[in-house]
Amino acid sequence: MADGTSGRTSPVFNPATGLQTADVDLASVADVDRAVASAKAAAEGWRATSLSRRSAVMFGFRQLLHDATDELAKIITAEHGKVLIDSAAEIGRGLENVEYACGVPELLKGGFSEQASTGVDVYSIRQPLGVVAGITPFNFPAMVPLWMCANAIACGNAFILKPSEKDPSASLFLAELWQKAGLPDGVFTVLQGDKVAVDRLLEHPDVKAISFVGSTPIAKSIYETATKNGKRVQALGGAKNHMLVLPDADLGLAADAAVSAAYGAAGERCMAISVAVAVGDIADDLVDAIAQRIPKLKVGDGAEPGTDMGPLITAQHRDKVAGYIAAGVESGAKVVVDGRDGTVHGAFSPSGGFFVGPTLLDGVTPELSVYTDAIFGPVLAVVRVGTYDEAIALINANPFANGTAIFTRDGGAARQFQFDVEVGMVGINVPIPTPVAYYSFGGWKNSLFGDTHMYGPEGVAFYTRGKVVTSRWPDPATSKIDLGFPTTR
Ligand code: NAD
Repeated sequence: MADGTSGRTSPVFNPATGLQTADVDLASVADVDRAVASAKAAAEGWRATSLSRRSAVMFGFRQLLHDATDELAKIITAEHGKVLIDSAAEIGRGLENVEYACGVPELLKGGFSEQASTGVDVYSIRQPLGVVAGITPFNFPAMVPLWMCANAIACGNAFILKPSEKDPSASLFLAELWQKAGLPDGVFTVLQGDKVAVDRLLEHPDVKAISFVGSTPIAKSIYETATKNGKRVQALGGAKNHMLVLPDADLGLAADAAVSAAYGAAGERCMAISVAVAVGDIADDLVDAIAQRIPKLKVGDGAEPGTDMGPLITAQHRDKVAGYIAAGVESGAKVVVDGRDGTVHGAFSPSGGFFVGPTLLDGVTPELSVYTDAIFGPVLAVVRVGTYDEAIALINANPFANGTAIFTRDGGAARQFQFDVEVGMVGINVPIPTPVAYYSFGGWKNSLFGDTHMYGPEGVAFYTRGKVVTSRWPDPATSKIDLGFPTTR
């Protein structure tokens, strides 16, 4: 561990109290260069380490992370604000990625074709890229780094993590666990920093690939800059996830799902539901059912047992979310539940934290900013449409396309939705369809820039490059010159 040399720092808060708890150093260009040099040196030895030994380190890390879940969950909650069980759940989903990467000997098995031509064998292998970097958002300070680093490291790369400066401690905890698991120094490096560090990583010639997760404008600009600099890039952006409720849906199930997916982690999830599209005459009942459930949610400090929803990440973000609610109301949306009103959720009003309570807006239309923008807060907008076709047209016209869900009892309608909808991850009666670790995660359109989705098989493909070997062992006595282009025979 080394202190930063820039002299610049960023404050870290406990969002539930609003109090500053730490300062984090922000890396200078020289700090980045040092981290990359150390990673480059480590990458050589690590790629030469056998698959079984790499796998053993992965299994060791998996056990340490599993055993440290409660400790790490407290660290996450203290800086992010989400409730403890949610912090533990993100670690659990991250662990799935580590478990997948434990199987690296199987994942990197190549193909072999004996006698592809007479006396000629052809085989394919996948090799690591070298030094790769991950730039991650505040909202999953353990899971998103694990989406990236588990596969990157197992595949034989050295991984540099530039976490969010808003909740920097989880990444340092992960670094300690990697070290305890026996990972050689320099194979996993945490570089605390901001735009200065990111810009240097994007231009550094020894960084071969960039994985990014964050907001759409930054994702787009990172994709453009890093590809221009010749790097492989996957850049995941923001979201506006629609939940389509057909008239035949079970209302209780749909309302439970809408409340869970809209307000869990205070809406600060890229797979949160932020729009409920009510089809036909179900709308009044759906809005009532959601509204009835909201007062039962306990809003407060995520570290307190029994809390359902914690605060937002910063005071600025709280004000921004409140501003969207105000703009929605001014533009004609109907406030069914106003999360700016602390009296509805009295538990949180005196604490001084960065709270906005669960908010439900009805009668939202597609031109309102509460519909067009990725708010990233506990605000659920209800859009009423007449038919399934109108609903699909609405969802497919949205520039974000991360996740979506349909609620129905009609299997044929669900299958049609899966066929029609232009979104990368689809749930059928599942509000947050985050794929398991052996599939890959990624949206379409403005929710992902790049060709590969993250983790799973596409993660392994992203962090390796293919090589095909054509080999023969002919009898030198039969050798002759042949200027023709080689053909199979
Ligand atoms: P952000 O875009 O502000 O920051 C993400 C990362 O980029 C951080 O590490 C940050 O330090 C860095 N960064 C910020 N500004 C930068 C700049 N100008 N130049 C270079 N680097 C910069 O995102 P956030 O607020 O930390 O996270 C929330 C966002 O992430 C939301 O938009 C959410 O939808 C998105 N997100 C997407 C997914 C997904 O899988 N698609 C998953 C989680 C979060």
